[in-house]
Amino acid sequence: MEVAKVNVAKVIIDQNSHHTDRPFDYKIPQNLMEAVEIGSRVQVTFGKGHKKIEGYVLGIKDIEKPRYTIKNLQGVVQNVPPLSELQIDMILWMKKTYLCTYMEAISTVAPPKAYGNIKEKKDVFLRRKVSRGDMETVVEKTPNNAKRQREILRQLIEDEEVLLKSLSDNKSVYKNAVKALENKGVIETIEKEKASRLLNMMPPKNPPRVPLTTEQKKALETMKESFGKTQEKKEKGKTFLLHGVTGSGKTEIYLGLIEKALELGKTAIVLVPEISLTPQTMERFTARFGEAIALIHSSLTLKERYYEWEKIQQGKAKIVIGARSAVFAKLENLGMIVVDEEHEYTYKSEQNPKYHAIEVARYRSEREGAQVVLGSATPSVESYYRGEQGIYELISLDRRVTKHQLPHVEMVDMREELDVGNLSMISGSLKNQIEENLKKQGQTILFLNRRGFSTFLSCKKCGYVEKCRDCDITMTYHLPSDELICHYCGKKKKPITECPDCGNTTIKHFGYGTQKLEKNIENLFPEARILRMDVDTTTEKGAHEKVLTAFKNREADILIGTQMISKGLDFPGVTLVGIIAADSILNLPDFRASERTFQLLTQVAGRAGRGEDLGSVVLQTYKPEHYSIEEAIKQDYVGFYRREIGLREAFEYPPFKTLYLVNLMGEDEQKVYDTAVKVSKGIRYILKNEGYNDCLEECILGPNPSVISKINKNYRYRILLKNIEIDKQLLKKVIKYVCINKRKQFVPDEVNLSIDFNPYSII
Ligand code: ADP
Ligand code: ZN
Repeated sequence: MEVAKVNVAKVIIDQNSHHTDRPFDYKIPQNLMEAVEIGSRVQVTFGKGHKKIEGYVLGIKDIEKPRYTIKNLQGVVQNVPPLSELQIDMILWMKKTYLCTYMEAISTVAPPKAYGNIKEKKDVFLRRKVSRGDMETVVEKTPNNAKRQREILRQLIEDEEVLLKSLSDNKSVYKNAVKALENKGVIETIEKEKASRLLNMMPPKNPPRVPLTTEQKKALETMKESFGKTQEKKEKGKTFLLHGVTGSGKTEIYLGLIEKALELGKTAIVLVPEISLTPQTMERFTARFGEAIALIHSSLTLKERYYEWEKIQQGKAKIVIGARSAVFAKLENLGMIVVDEEHEYTYKSEQNPKYHAIEVARYRSEREGAQVVLGSATPSVESYYRGEQGIYELISLDRRVTKHQLPHVEMVDMREELDVGNLSMISGSLKNQIEENLKKQGQTILFLNRRGFSTFLSCKKCGYVEKCRDCDITMTYHLPSDELICHYCGKKKKPITECPDCGNTTIKHFGYGTQKLEKNIENLFPEARILRMDVDTTTEKGAHEKVLTAFKNREADILIGTQMISKGLDFPGVTLVGIIAADSILNLPDFRASERTFQLLTQVAGRAGRGEDLGSVVLQTYKPEHYSIEEAIKQDYVGFYRREIGLREAFEYPPFKTLYLVNLMGEDEQKVYDTAVKVSKGIRYILKNEGYNDCLEECILGPNPSVISKINKNYRYRILLKNIEIDKQLLKKVIKYVCINKRKQFVPDEVNLSIDFNPYSII
């Protein structure tokens, strides 16, 4: 007797829950046999209640008629392209590498937001249907009290059509008037799609090509040659680390490499830290490659995003430029992945899966034979180490392309300023240099990595400090709104005038931020034109570009900003950079604090002297003897690296040891703590059984409250795991077993657990 075979799809349910994080079997009915394939987004019913839900088919198999009942697939979702084989591989790799759920991996690799659901509001216009002369007759006939009708008519006598919104923000105000005029047959309303901001923003303009310097040529040739070879032999792609000082012309090299990729019929991905902060880099790419580019970034509207993804899906885009998530772009024939400013922490995702774009790029490079190029003036310590180890091929650009080399950095010890009675945030030397620079009509950048006016309010008598009720963090005082703002959850409140603890009424401001710096500079240099760029001045769409363009066009003399202004800006007019508090992040309890300090200072200093005139930098610090600061003053990356790598080895941090951070969060502190204890005990128990005992104290740190122990009402605990003496793979397996496989047993639903592999921040 022949056994009946059944076609079964393995479906991942689109539901954000650990309980359903596995493939479920569904029968493919005869009528869907054609439509369903591996990767399809399908409709199913789920659970006892037969809830309608969507999911993805990750596999299809034939089985003999099963003894249990299998539900039928309900249908295939239209307009969503199926996941490709590569995407499915990537999803499985993400799940394995970052210990996330299937759905977390799927929505990262193939964001559903990119498709469908693009009902975006259109712009409504009023247009005249009759001649101008006829319109005038209508106006005459319209009674005087029909004010709104008359207003519309008058507008339409001048212009053929008018944007309804331009008359009033509130559409309903004109509703009756519009209707009346429509009934008279003199006007009509039409809807138009909003114009793509992107295309308006970046018109292709084909600038003249600059001849490359000898150093640039050599670097480009080396990478091109190796690229050509791997493509010929269909080998796995290589990873290059392009370490070039600020202003050494790295972008020209990226452009040359991409040109080569296109010549070979390949495609390319370019990752930039944050598109809105790097409009100039973007412009250089669009100018060279125009239409072949798809741009992906967070401030796209849904519709814009959809168009860009469509361009990729249909194979019209040969180059994709975007922030972190663009690394997943579904390009065929991928030949090159460029990661600009590879040290930037925005390449690491803060949501599950907590992937790093470079790791994904390297995975794609292996899988698809693409070449990876990581570029930076201040590579991450891990990357440079890999360069030294020969895992990456290291290529250096030591010289700037312009006639002047790196700017001179003058250090000002702020303790000595205090000694001579200068209590302000601006040293005598910086003040003099700003004054000089203003006279010379040079532009100045002032960098302070703290926004707001003053850092915190405190009672002068008892020392009470005003904190956010929901976060374990002091609230920052902001002008001009005169309020305290929590920088973690955004909550606002009126500043206290009386201490809630002791009733004292002298409340003092401590610390300073960019707002106070701006006030001080205004007072010192009333004639100077000042711009400020931080989170508070750039909340509106396009605000970044506005500030940067204004500064570029020399509409201001001084630009004050947070780390937003440290990223890749190329302003030839800037001849002075002032760093107000060089050690502001040095004291963070994080093993990357020194690295970040060095990177930030070097990058900011690198904004000076990129044009015709020599640049200089004034660096104010309370800790001149710290090696990060010493080496930043010399702008000596390798010098910094040597000192830092020694410490990383001694204290067993990455790249020598792997770190896992298990974060536990929830509103009930006791539950969070109990869970943390259970999880850490579980991990210890298994490792003990594996024969590890002596090293566990060093390897499993915690549970401890996180440095910021509460954010937005959620208490935070952490367990930090290092693979000292324990095999890396084994440690990972144990974490996976306790935190993922046995999750139900260890973690109640009210507690959120997330795993971060080699975290960028352990605060
Ligand atoms: P980096 O990214 O290394 O800091 P950029 O690629 O931004 O440097 O280049 C700095 C500036 O030098 C840019 O304005 C760029 O147009 C210009 N530039 C690059 N290469 C050359 C060259 N060979 N000759 C002249 N100018 C160049
Ligand atoms: Zn808060």
